[in-house]
Amino acid sequence: MWLTGATVIDGTGADPVPDRSILVEDGRIAALGGTPPAGAEVLDCTGLVITPGLIDAHVHFGMSSDIGQSLTRQLSVAEMAADMFENCRQTLHAGFTTVRDTGGIDDGLAQVVASGKVPGPRIIHCGPLLAQTGGHGYLGATWEPSEDWESHHVVGLRAVSFLSDGPDSVRKNAREAFRRGASFLKMCVTGGVVSHHDKLTDTQFTAEEIAAAVTEASARGTYVTVHAHNNAGLRTAIQAGVKCVEHGSEIDEEMATLMAQHGVAHVPTLAVVHALLDDSTGPGLPAHIGTRVGHVLDGQIAAIHASRAAGVLIGSGSDYIGPNQERRGYEITLRAKVEDPMTALVTATRDNARVLRIDDEVGTIEPGKRADLAGFAGNPLDDPAIFADHERVRLVLQRGRVVKDHR
Ligand SMILES: [Zn+2]
Repeated sequence: MWLTGATVIDGTGADPVPDRSILVEDGRIAALGGTPPAGAEVLDCTGLVITPGLIDAHVHFGMSSDIGQSLTRQLSVAEMAADMFENCRQTLHAGFTTVRDTGGIDDGLAQVVASGKVPGPRIIHCGPLLAQTGGHGYLGATWEPSEDWESHHVVGLRAVSFLSDGPDSVRKNAREAFRRGASFLKMCVTGGVVSHHDKLTDTQFTAEEIAAAVTEASARGTYVTVHAHNNAGLRTAIQAGVKCVEHGSEIDEEMATLMAQHGVAHVPTLAVVHALLDDSTGPGLPAHIGTRVGHVLDGQIAAIHASRAAGVLIGSGSDYIGPNQERRGYEITLRAKVEDPMTALVTATRDNARVLRIDDEVGTIEPGKRADLAGFAGNPLDDPAIFADHERVRLVLQRGRVVKDHR
């Protein structure tokens, strides 16, 4: 296939190249520029701006329905599945060809999308995240026994978290997550915004518990990422060997330096904070959750600057939960304001691929990479709001196959 006429932004930070042709063969980018080989199928992309397929490094496809309703058995499995499938489709059609699910899906969802039966991005996931009893990642009602929590898992579809207490319990649940298809582990080492039983200033899990997860991940050649809103919990986790931090709302110069020394990546999540500040009842959460956001937005923005100054690898994730996740690219729009549009795009493509450890496969438009591409009507570098407008995403290729064509 020969894509012709588009302006190409390759995801490396290089300037856009007008009228740049892309040759796609066997699902991969075979060449840039030159002349079309005889017999190539020509796709006229005149007027489009083509970028690498976008990557969202922090999603929760397992929470695609009203959260309150889905955890109190008011929704059928069929309805929850329908919402998840629609979220997968919307995500792909918004130009995202890869996501990292940081807690909540069963491998069954990833597999059915990978099979092509349900349109959606490539899903790299941790399966159920590891939470301590009473910690972030547990969303049961106060009066519900903790022992009943896993009864909210839906076999083959959703598994929000494993409650894990003590290194042996962490080890067993880490092994179970890997058995069920996880390719990395996620642990919550501080309190969270969407929590019923903790505070943002709480630390969670001990050094020994986190180390048990790190040992299991290392044994499989992969890593642990942690949910962290305060530096006390984060410091313990870094010393225990984790390699990625979600949110990182308190990261300052000292912490960023420690992260750089230990090769720890940072995935800020701004879009979800905006959504919760606007209306936490939208995702199906109590109204008071919005008041827990506190310093999280300003803190993460300051943290991005601290991480950047220290040379930390920074990704981006929306962290959307509940219904209405169709403006997934809003995270990139927001990041364009924090730094600049090109940095925001490189972060959501090349750098997220590095965070996900798949940068040899995707993240830039270069010969040999998978032909995962997004084509926009208009230049999102000139108007970053375009990233969040799925109607401006006119063309999506996934492994060289056209999966959306609204040229
Ligand atoms: Zn999250």
